[in-house]
Amino acid sequence: MAAGNRHLRYKETLGQMEESSPGIKADFYLGFIERVLPLLDGVAETERGLVGECSRCGSPSTAEVCAFCRLAERAAATAVPSDVLPLAVGQLDGAGIPLEGHRPADER
Ligand SMILES: [Zn+2]
Repeated sequence: MAAGNRHLRYKETLGQMEESSPGIKADFYLGFIERVLPLLDGVAETERGLVGECSRCGSPSTAEVCAFCRLAERAAATAVPSDVLPLAVGQLDGAGIPLEGHRPADER
């Protein structure tokens, strides 16, 4: 256990309490949820209003373009030309031989 890490100590204490009183962890968790849920209800409503749709794919996003589309755009911008990439598995036959039309440029 890392010195000073209270979370691990709490976890260990909860584990000991569960051992002597089965179900106490569930009671603690469900009681926590019951008390916190009403407090978060208004927060969720506010945040739901900030979520729109990605202008490219329509997925929920807080930005005009979602994180996935931005990542895909960055990946496409830095993509390596296909003639220098190794062949993909789908371009090989069962024995690992390149299928016709998928030979590396220097073997054509
Ligand atoms: Zn998107």
